Amino acid sequence: MESGTLSLEEIQKRIEQLSPEQALEEIKAANGDLVLLDIREPHEHAEAHLEGDVLVPPVEVAERIDELAPDTSQRLILYCRSGARSARAANLLQEQFGYDNVANVEGGILAWQEAGLPVDEAEGLTSEQRERYSRHTMLPEFGVEGQVKLLNSKVLLLGAGGLGSPTALYLAAAGVGTLGLVDDDVVDESNLQRQVIHTTDRVGEPKTESARKSIEALNPDVEVIEHRTRLSAENVLEIIKDYDVIVDGADNFPTRYLLNDASVRLRKPVVSASILAFDGQISTFVPFEGPCYRCLYPTPPPAELAPSCGEAGVLGVMAGVLGLLQANEVIKLVAGIGEPLIGRLLLYDSLGTRFTELKVRRDPNCPVCGPNAEEIPQSEMGKFPDYEAFCAR
Ligand SMILES: [Zn+2]
Repeated sequence: MESGTLSLEEIQKRIEQLSPEQALEEIKAANGDLVLLDIREPHEHAEAHLEGDVLVPPVEVAERIDELAPDTSQRLILYCRSGARSARAANLLQEQFGYDNVANVEGGILAWQEAGLPVDEAEGLTSEQRERYSRHTMLPEFGVEGQVKLLNSKVLLLGAGGLGSPTALYLAAAGVGTLGLVDDDVVDESNLQRQVIHTTDRVGEPKTESARKSIEALNPDVEVIEHRTRLSAENVLEIIKDYDVIVDGADNFPTRYLLNDASVRLRKPVVSASILAFDGQISTFVPFEGPCYRCLYPTPPPAELAPSCGEAGVLGVMAGVLGLLQANEVIKLVAGIGEPLIGRLLLYDSLGTRFTELKVRRDPNCPVCGPNAEEIPQSEMGKFPDYEAFCAR
């Protein structure tokens, strides 16, 4: 009878069936003197497989068996996901190729894992992810562990504009699992010179929506959360509370102070950069480990010294340079590698191509993170002084 016309049940009756426990015992005792075949596809094998096996997808069994087991009396143990594909392959080898010592693992690797027996597992990454992030995972300092941390991380970007665009693109490519975007603006033609996440045909669209489209096209692993609003004293705590790291690309001082005070209170690290004309600067604020934004700038500069990019002009690539330095800081913080810019202010002069680093210390008189800073009572949570006064135009 042609095996192709037999039901799975009939095939299983013809083949020696081993429980996972029996198979494991035999594999151990054989000490390498048997051939263990995984009859599945490569991506299934990559996720989890039995130690010491050989992957042979179903379509390759007939052509490869000669090379894998030249002697037809060789003991063969076959398995697959649930035991069906391997049973058919075992039947083929037994009936058509003359192998007379073939067994099948009943219930496959699923039953094996259910029984709590050991498998070689790719921790936390699917086979698609192993492929996509292979240049990360092959870095010994980063590894699968670092990638899993990125995939489980939640990063909030304040602004989907100049700094936010490159930061978001690279964090998305890197596999940050959740990216929140706070922006209430729409894409304008004058943005496209530096805000590379947006495109010409999306002029007039909300920036968060345009950014979400680019991110989703780049990496389906990333979940984008749109906060189509302006950060305010009323919403800041609620918006930032679920994120691990916040990236401050805000273009105005009231928002920077507001974010600082809220992030110190919730102990959220903030990577903060700014760009103007041909200059940029960046630092990383980890509450109580290093200075906060107010330690660095106890009072905001007068408004005429803090023009927005729209009024003052900025070299487009500045957004890219500082935006990617931001992304680099975020990745280090999340993966727990390297030395973040805590207590250091890095200045970049693009015309001279010079980086300068300044030390920044915690201010013992800081009203927010200093030792004498007053705990704001629970009833005051979410209420902040009127920052508009700082930057009245
Ligand atoms: Zn401070």
